[in-house]
Amino acid sequence: MKRFIQFILITVMVAGASWVFWQDYTSGPGVDHRLVKYVNEWKQDMDSAGISYNRIFNLRLDTIEVVGGLNAYGYCYTNHIEISEGILGSEWVTRQAVYHELGHHVLSLDHVDDKCIMFEKSLGEDFCRDNWNSLVSKYINRAKE
Ligand SMILES: [Zn+2]
Repeated sequence: MKRFIQFILITVMVAGASWVFWQDYTSGPGVDHRLVKYVNEWKQDMDSAGISYNRIFNLRLDTIEVVGGLNAYGYCYTNHIEISEGILGSEWVTRQAVYHELGHHVLSLDHVDDKCIMFEKSLGEDFCRDNWNSLVSKYINRAKE
């Protein structure tokens, strides 16, 4: 009887841990509602390029949040990403910042010297809007290297 109870307890614990893990794996990070559309676009772009991001995106990343008073457009930490509130009015600058920080966090991309999404500074609203498709292609090629 004692062994049976041990068996039941271990089974319940394993099932519980698996459930928590599965919830985390399938639900992904909490994303500020103002950033959801950019994050979804990024996921679609990664999906169509065949780049797998689920493991890091869903498990390691807890939140993608909007923060006021940042000295940069965005920051990337071990388990969360911050995007500056001050840029939300500029759609393409925000889009670059979201792709940029996800590039650091999920795809392990470093900064580059040429005009790319991983350039250290913002490329500006007009440049991003006018060149977005080629910027995303470059970004995807780097992620595949
Ligand atoms: Zn950066």
